[in-house]
Amino acid sequence: MLADRINQLLPQTQCTKCGYQGCKPYAQAIANDGVAINRCPPGGDAGIEKLAQLLELPLLKLDTTCGEHVPLQVAVIEEQFCIGCTLCIQACPVDAILGANKFMHTVIASDCTGCDLCIAPCPVDCIKMVPVESARLWTTADATQARLRYEGRQARIAEMTATNIRNEAIVNSGTEHCVEADSPRPDTNISASEKTDKQAAIAQALARARARRSAP
Ligand code: SF4
Ligand code: SF4
Ligand code: SF4
Repeated sequence: MLADRINQLLPQTQCTKCGYQGCKPYAQAIANDGVAINRCPPGGDAGIEKLAQLLELPLLKLDTTCGEHVPLQVAVIEEQFCIGCTLCIQACPVDAILGANKFMHTVIASDCTGCDLCIAPCPVDCIKMVPVESARLWTTADATQARLRYEGRQARIAEMTATNIRNEAIVNSGTEHCVEADSPRPDTNISASEKTDKQAAIAQALARARARRSAP
C-alpha cells in the first residue's frame, strides 16, 4: 500500500507535529487525501526529498508552522523533583519511560525519540530536552525500532480498552465472578473515595515538589 511505503520514509518519532496522531496517520493523509509532504519537522528537508521522489512531486520547503527541524534530542528527568504521577508514561508514544505510581521515573535514552510529548504533562516541570551525546543522528534503524515500540504500545492499549469494555459489560450484567483473575481492574471498580485519595496524594506531592523547587 502507498501509505505503508510513505510511512517507511517517515522518522517515526510519533511527535504529532505534523498535525496527525503519529507518523502512520500522516502517511495515510498524504496517500489518501493529498496532504502536503512538508509537514514533518523531524524529517526535515531530507525527509521531504525522499517523499518527493517516491511520489514524484516537486520539492517543498519545510512548513515551519509545524515546527523547526532541530538536531536530535532526548528527554531527561530531574529525578529529585519527580513526584511519580505517571503522566509522562501515559504521554510517551514509544514506552521510553520507566517508573511506577509514586516512584521516581527515568527515561531510557536509547528508546527516546525526542518527541517531547512528555514535557507538557509533567506537573512539576522536571523533564527537559537535551541534545544527544556526540550529536548522534536518527537512523533508519532508530526509526524502525521506534515504529515497532509505537505499534506494540498501540496494540497493548487496544487490548486493555477491549478488556475494560468487556469487564464493564460483565459488571453491568451482574456477573462479576466471570472476570478473569489476571484482567486489569476496570475503572468502574475504583471507588469514589479511592479516586479522592489519589487526587489528594497528587496534590500533596505537588505542593511538596513546588516547595522543594522554590527552596533557596
Ligand atoms: S515524526 Fe512527527 S511530524 Fe513527522 S510524521 Fe511522525 S508524527 Fe508527524
Ligand atoms: S521520553 Fe519523552 S521525549 Fe522521549 S519518546 Fe517518550 S515522550 Fe518522547
Ligand atoms: S510527569 Fe513529571 S512528576 Fe510525573 S512521573 Fe513523570 S517526571 Fe515524574
